[in-house]
Amino acid sequence: MPVVDVKDGSVVPERAAEGVERSRRMEDELREQNERFSAAVENMSHGLCMFDADERMIICNGNYINIFRLDAKVMRPGIRFIDILRHSVDIGVASQSADELYAIRKPYIDQAKPSTYEETLSDGRIISISHRPLAPGGWVSIYEDITEQRRAEQDLKEQHRRFDAALANMSQGLMMYDADGKLIVRNGRFLELYNVTAADFPLGTTHRDALERLLELGIYTKIDVDSEVAKTEACRRAGKMHSAYRHLTDGRTILVTRQPMSGGGWVATFDDVTERRRTEERMTHLAHHDTLTGLPNRSMFRERLDLALEDVAATPLAIFSLDLDRFKAVNDTWGHPAGDWLLKSVAERLQRCLRSETDIVARFGGDEFVVMQFHFKDIANAEKLAKRIVEAIAKPFRDKGRDMHVGISLGIAVFPNDGKDADTLLKNADTALYRAKSEGRNLYRFFEPGMDAMVQARRALEVDLETALPRQEFDLDFQPIMNIASGEIIGAEALMRWRSPARGTVAPDQFIPVAEETGLIVPLGDWALRTACAAAASWPPGLRIAVNVSAVQLKSGGFARGVISALAFSEVPAGQLELEITETVLMDESKAMLKTLRQLRELGIRIALDDFGTGYSSLGYLRRFPVDKIKIDRSFIRDIGNRDTAAIVRTIIGLGTELGIVVTAEGVETEVQLDMLRENGCVEAQGYLIGVPAKAAAIRRLLKSRALHSQTG
Ligand code: C2E
Ligand code: MG
Ligand code: MG
Repeated sequence: MPVVDVKDGSVVPERAAEGVERSRRMEDELREQNERFSAAVENMSHGLCMFDADERMIICNGNYINIFRLDAKVMRPGIRFIDILRHSVDIGVASQSADELYAIRKPYIDQAKPSTYEETLSDGRIISISHRPLAPGGWVSIYEDITEQRRAEQDLKEQHRRFDAALANMSQGLMMYDADGKLIVRNGRFLELYNVTAADFPLGTTHRDALERLLELGIYTKIDVDSEVAKTEACRRAGKMHSAYRHLTDGRTILVTRQPMSGGGWVATFDDVTERRRTEERMTHLAHHDTLTGLPNRSMFRERLDLALEDVAATPLAIFSLDLDRFKAVNDTWGHPAGDWLLKSVAERLQRCLRSETDIVARFGGDEFVVMQFHFKDIANAEKLAKRIVEAIAKPFRDKGRDMHVGISLGIAVFPNDGKDADTLLKNADTALYRAKSEGRNLYRFFEPGMDAMVQARRALEVDLETALPRQEFDLDFQPIMNIASGEIIGAEALMRWRSPARGTVAPDQFIPVAEETGLIVPLGDWALRTACAAAASWPPGLRIAVNVSAVQLKSGGFARGVISALAFSEVPAGQLELEITETVLMDESKAMLKTLRQLRELGIRIALDDFGTGYSSLGYLRRFPVDKIKIDRSFIRDIGNRDTAAIVRTIIGLGTELGIVVTAEGVETEVQLDMLRENGCVEAQGYLIGVPAKAAAIRRLLKSRALHSQTG
């Protein structure tokens, strides 16, 4: 095929035609190459612009135009670089003037090295520019909008900053391990808490290393590294949090919590909970202990007892219910601080009485204590402990030169015989205690099945007695007292009677001790005093009225006032009133009762010592308080036929004469007895022979007729 010149259409000779053909092929190839290049440039994800040595643009792509928001019509090949800058200033994309921009770019253009720099546009976008010089001169620039990337980096940086701040300011120590079990984060608080340096726990340390390090440094005592590592492993596998307390050698407690992370690593936090633990321990101690004595309290005792009984192999055990005797008197006499001191001392002595480590003594409140004795073999076991306790508490308590005397009564119930559950055991021990109390003081009693009924009866009596005073069920009888030598009636003793609609007439021996225990004796005794004085007011002048007074009344404040007011109301002269007290009053250490009696005696009131010979009968007591009269108990008069008894009676009479104390014989029933008393110089006599206790009206008649008789005869 002939080759035709494209310019003039002439046919090119064969050889020349070959050359034309080659150059056309080359042109085609070049064009194709250009097109491919253009297409590649156009499809780049970055902006691109190429300049020749004269700083004129050869080519740029759409991305470049888009990044700088340039006008495509202006961006023709051949446009000078400075003009592009001016154009960008004109359309408001550039944030600086074209000259300024050019001055920045020029050094990059002039140097033969590739470089990358950034430019911020007026709208805040950040463009990264990679500058590449071209071999024949000129350069190519690649543009990338890195605004988003920068923002993300900034955000990440901020996040890091915050994380660091949080880590540094945490009150907890923190260690973070990655999935390979290597330490990747550790905060300052951790170092501070454990008093270690960063060098002790470099990043990359394993959990095992860390534990071993803490042991080496002597911070942890007793810790099994293998088992700790295994625990962490288990908590990672289970994806569950795990907490444990660590006790440091310096006494602090650290709460370590391990929390697995989703990526396979875990975070361990360290909390100093020393104070919190101490407070918690204090709180639980408080909840379980009596604040005054530090002994376990009722709730803790119950817990222990329930626990002991739940034990299938529960061995017999004994429950002791304890109650102090005369504690109220200590409180009343010395005040509450002394009472508190006494309770603390009692608690100490009780604890010392326990021989087995497992035995427990608890305070249930007031002066009530309870003991649980384990390893109970037989009654003798419990008896020994009971005796020890009675002896220990019977010894005087000395504080600030004051001697306090109390005693203790105990009731004992044994598991399983006396009850299979805590409630029954405690109730039965109480019943036995109640029994011990009613039989006297400083006693222990074992629970017996019949006791319950007796206690019920006694409780019922207390309840009835409580309502008897307002219901006016009490009454006074009067028994005449005679001067033996003259045969004259010199007065009468008031004796209380309870006429209960349900019980009939109840003897004072039956209800006075109960009234003393419940405290009812105070208003009841006051009533007796007023009633007796009121009765005596209508008697012939000069006759004496004797009224029995309980120690409880004397101890209660205001007794003297009550006496004075009874005399004032009745207008009975003080010299005609005789108060009958018992030896226990003189035995009292507090001297407060003696002081009251002395005051009353100074007013002219006479004090008689009743039932002489039945109590401690220590003549020494007579020296402590000068009584006006001694009443020999009727048991001596009854047995006066007995030589020894007669000797005692004679001694008492002789003593009275010696000390100038009137001696009265009680319970004189026969002329023989009266004769004997007369022969021995006994001053007064009282008894059925002289007159039985009689109603107020009857006694008034008797006294009037006798007075008349003595006046006329
Ligand atoms: P007490 O003060 O020693 O009173 C004498 C007791 O002996 C009275 O008993 C009386 O009835 C009884 N008695 C008198 N003569 C004879 C006799 O010849 N033979 C016999 N076997 N007994 C005789 P009562 O009335 O049962 O009083 C018993 C105790 O109760 C009194 O003994 C006294 O300690 C107490 N008591 C009575 N009234 C009161 C009171 O108002 N207040 C106080 N605190 N105690 C009182
Ligand atoms: Mg009496
Ligand atoms: Mg008497």
